[in-house]
Amino acid sequence: MNYKNFPMVPRVIFGRGSFNQLNEIISPIRLNMNAPFIYLIDDVFKSNSWLTSRISLSYDDRIIYISTEEEPKTIQVDNLVEEIILSVKERPSGIIGIGGGSILDLAKAVSIMLTNEGETHSYQGWDLVKNPALYHVGIPTISGTGAEVSRTTVLTGPKKKLGINSDYTPFNQVILDPELTKNVPKDQWFFTGMDCFIHSVESLQGSYLNAFSKSYGDMAYNLCKEVFLEDTLSTIEAQDKLMMASWHGGMSIAYSQVGVAHAMSYGLSYVLGTKHGIGNCIVFDHLEEFYPEGVRLFKIMKEKHNIELPQGICAHLSDEDLDTMVSISWAMEPLWENALGNNWKKKISPKQLKTMYLKM
Ligand code: NAD
Ligand code: ZN
Repeated sequence: MNYKNFPMVPRVIFGRGSFNQLNEIISPIRLNMNAPFIYLIDDVFKSNSWLTSRISLSYDDRIIYISTEEEPKTIQVDNLVEEIILSVKERPSGIIGIGGGSILDLAKAVSIMLTNEGETHSYQGWDLVKNPALYHVGIPTISGTGAEVSRTTVLTGPKKKLGINSDYTPFNQVILDPELTKNVPKDQWFFTGMDCFIHSVESLQGSYLNAFSKSYGDMAYNLCKEVFLEDTLSTIEAQDKLMMASWHGGMSIAYSQVGVAHAMSYGLSYVLGTKHGIGNCIVFDHLEEFYPEGVRLFKIMKEKHNIELPQGICAHLSDEDLDTMVSISWAMEPLWENALGNNWKKKISPKQLKTMYLKM
């Protein structure tokens, strides 16, 4: 057995208002006055002075606001890297991502591509990155994906949707300030929060499970139950706990894998552009057969928070589109293997997958 030796985020600060300490944290990292810090920020914060007034730009530092209308693409990373290279005097001191999973993934990818040659899509896969990334900081503003702690950055490329999984991907510094999540719209709070719940269920029910993943998975699962099922938490406690649930959910899958919901949601995303959080919910809602207890709880949570999921999103698809969807999902071998075991191909067929998609 060859065990994975994987890196973790070496520094993390947690607390409401900890975002105020960003400047003191990054100042010692600055290489020189010509080497700026580049902030990649979700454009939902563009005129939000509560957040932006706490960022102090010095020398050549700059903010690039980014729309999260669509999830990150390799070409978007290539363009950002080019824009940065053309506009700075020297290689930047660091990249700071402020936003949800989309922005955190972009920040990771940009920091890798500023020190590695060629096009971003050529690094989609496992351990293809040669040079260490630039110093990069992740500051989540919505909780659930675990992108703040993971070793991957999920990108849609010309041929596939696949992460850059590497030892250089994790952030050098994460700032967990749950107060930053206070204005997340309710539906989005639910969809991204359920990503974490689904990570924990898929990890805990998977064949790859081990004590490492289980301990983190249990924590994420129980925190999600408290946040989404119980009425005992204040808003502040719920924000704090969901941020930690996201962290633990991400840690849990580091040493295992996700499962059926993620495998199928990748297919939806590739063909229909369905976003990760809502896509997982649409799929998970139909997975009683695979995750009976998780799906039962999910339906109670959905009801409790009055969440309406879109129905029939695959009904109008052409046969060709459906086949693409099935083949994208089918190709996620490790996810299926984790979910159904070694002989997963005996337990599910492309035809069954198609039937399942048609119900969604
Ligand atoms: P997101 O980053 O796309 O954000 C969702 C929405 O919430 C956006 O409209 C955004 O503007 C808004 N938002 C974020 N913070 C806000 C705030 N504080 N106030 C108001 N609005 C706010 O969504 P997400 O669900 O966090 O991330 C999804 C992405 O994460 C996908 O691209 C997915 O592939 C990726 N992902 C990555 C990993 C990983 O390990 N790298 C894991 C899971 C998912
Ligand atoms: Zn996920």
